[in-house]
Amino acid sequence: MADDGAGGDTAPPPIDDASRLCLSCGMCCDSTLFFFAGLKPREAARAAKNDFDVVEEDGKARFNQPCHHLDGAACTIYSQWRPHVCGDFRCTLLIKLGKGDIAVSDAVTVVAKARSLLSLLPEDLRTLRAMRSFADAAQGRMREGALSPEDAGTMARAVITLRFLDDNFRKDGKKILSA
Ligand code: SF4
Ligand code: SF4
Repeated sequence: MADDGAGGDTAPPPIDDASRLCLSCGMCCDSTLFFFAGLKPREAARAAKNDFDVVEEDGKARFNQPCHHLDGAACTIYSQWRPHVCGDFRCTLLIKLGKGDIAVSDAVTVVAKARSLLSLLPEDLRTLRAMRSFADAAQGRMREGALSPEDAGTMARAVITLRFLDDNFRKDGKKILSA
């Protein structure tokens, strides 16, 4: 979950549909979609006390992902204190669900497709940070004509996965690959 809370985009979807979708996913908390989530300045000390991995830099506070409070796809502190971003954030898929632009079963299928793409990557590449680093390094090697066929295949799968996540979950301005 990143610092791009969706407050004001649209009405939230019915709570049962939102729960069904998010409990099949968890990718905004597990480091698949984002490296970190933003904190309001007044939240940093409390977040650190509550076992969030807080970093403060240039006067801004954030907590790193994966979040310590995630168990599978479920937030274990859902009904306790959480940073503002946790209650506010909605990815584009959840927003579409709220607008009635997608049925919950189809939205769950989108999550399953994302998981399936991720499963084609080596386990240590299934985070945004790792996918990006690998794709950047592989592109450099490709320019030098030094990319192995195996790495070329992995790079193609990483790029397809990043694109799918951009297209289905990340908002404009937060996409990893340019359009
Ligand atoms: S559907 Fe969106 S908001 Fe819900 S857990 Fe997945 S990424 Fe997060
Ligand atoms: S506290 Fe819960 S909602 Fe917030 S990042 Fe952690 S797992 Fe996600």
